[in-house]
Amino acid sequence: MAATAESIFPEYSLSSATRSFLARANKMMINGEWVEAASKQKFEVYEPASARVITSVPAGDKDDIDRAVEAARKALESPEWAGMTPSDRERAMLKLADLVEANAQELAEIESLDNGKMLAMAQMIDIGTAPSFIRYMAGWATKIEGSTIRPAGMNLGPDVKIHAYTLKEPVGVVGGIIPWNFPFAMCLWKMCPALATGSTIVLKPAEQTPLSALRLAELVKEAGIPDGVVNVVTGLGETAGSALASHPGIDKIAFTGSTEVGKLVAKAAADNITRVSLELGGKSPMIVLPDANMDAAVQGLCMGSFFNTGQVCTAGSRLYVHKKVYDQVVEGMAQVASSMKLGPGLDPETQMGPLVSKEQQDRVTSYIESGKSEGAKVLSGGGAADMDGYFVQPTVLGDTKPSMKVVREEIFGPVVCAASFDDIDEIVAEANNTNYGLAASVWSNDQRAVHHIVSKLKAGTVWVNCHNMIDPAVPFGGYKQSGMGREMAKMVIDMYTENKSVIMAL
Ligand code: NAP
Ligand code: MG
Repeated sequence: MAATAESIFPEYSLSSATRSFLARANKMMINGEWVEAASKQKFEVYEPASARVITSVPAGDKDDIDRAVEAARKALESPEWAGMTPSDRERAMLKLADLVEANAQELAEIESLDNGKMLAMAQMIDIGTAPSFIRYMAGWATKIEGSTIRPAGMNLGPDVKIHAYTLKEPVGVVGGIIPWNFPFAMCLWKMCPALATGSTIVLKPAEQTPLSALRLAELVKEAGIPDGVVNVVTGLGETAGSALASHPGIDKIAFTGSTEVGKLVAKAAADNITRVSLELGGKSPMIVLPDANMDAAVQGLCMGSFFNTGQVCTAGSRLYVHKKVYDQVVEGMAQVASSMKLGPGLDPETQMGPLVSKEQQDRVTSYIESGKSEGAKVLSGGGAADMDGYFVQPTVLGDTKPSMKVVREEIFGPVVCAASFDDIDEIVAEANNTNYGLAASVWSNDQRAVHHIVSKLKAGTVWVNCHNMIDPAVPFGGYKQSGMGREMAKMVIDMYTENKSVIMAL
């Protein structure tokens, strides 16, 4: 049983706003109303730092997805939403950005408690960057345009004249399926393009981290966005998630999560030819050349590998260092890793929080064991931490080989697999030797070498002397099995609009 909000987690100095939210965070939002699941079933939400129950939320199912899709469809065509001018939609989104800013401390506390991440990180990244993301996307509401086209002509004769142009219309009802690593940000990444284009959305947050999505739903209402435009159905992937992906009333699915589930979602959507965009897993390489600024590189590489406890789709999980500086880099990283203080995200002393769940902790530690048994050298960490929650020590594995499971598969935890190299072209080929292609980073100030490597890497984002940097104006997404389509920038707007070509005989 969940404790009451006042008595829950007395050791944390949570704001009264957060405590009062936790006391009411036990329903989901359909058509602007707080509702139970049709089945009345619930599931528990845990604090990863202590494995205690925070609250229970509705176990939404097919019936609830049906209700939510119906509400989103009605809202899509309603005068309240469809009749809003683009600048009214922009204004509502700007209001939402202001509300997120005004409630930032509460949102960061909720995110830290629910996901386990460091409060400072949630304040700076997850919630701190949210207002500018929303404002960037709000700007698109008034900048969606088709084109007038000078027809190519099809030799239909000199007398046949046409006038042609395109219209960009809202894609329709979007289904957003979200992972647990950046719960609030992922909701915004799916929801904001929907709002900007005049679409509507049903969001299914991850079962481990549904809470910030529920608080967001309250703020959406407070911003004056009409009921039914944004619906949040809490529930499990196998039930609510799959009902959403296969729903004939959904026009577009926007999914972020594992490649494995991404394939299931794409197959389910195929039956209805539902548009699909997928942000999937990665196994991103970091390539360090001998001329790199070593101190900055070691710090940056640690951020690349250990940021958000390594639970980042773009995490730098394969490290390739030129043999001249290999020892220096891996020893530097091992030193940083072994000095990191693990603890609850809400403890200000903490430098790395727990993983999100017991399942994830077991998964990551079993990868580490497989690395050891296949001959990787443990340079720091090497297993679970001896603490109550789901903690894993930041781990640097040295002397890894291309065939090892830890090098081939996405671990999604604070584990980096290092190897040395001699020849740039050989190592770029090795960096590309994976089914994934989400991101990569190159660490060097040798511009010729950097441009050469950038041109060869098969990755949706290549960072130079940094890792994990994103910006709403820069497209984001993956090559190969890391995904389909792009988020951010104008490219995401294109993915949330349908093109209508108009041809008029003159
Ligand atoms: P996941 O299963 O892919 O979860 C992503 C979302 O999909 C969740 O909301 C999930 O619901 C939902 N889902 C699950 N099965 C579904 C189905 N059959 N149809 C529709 N939706 C479904 O990821 P996970 O289980 O949380 O984590 C597993 C692994 O995925 C991680 O270890 C990591 O390797 C990878 N991952 C990658 C990313 C990324 O950003 N690339 C993010 C998270 C995880 P539930 O919450 O109920 O599972
Ligand atoms: Mg899952």
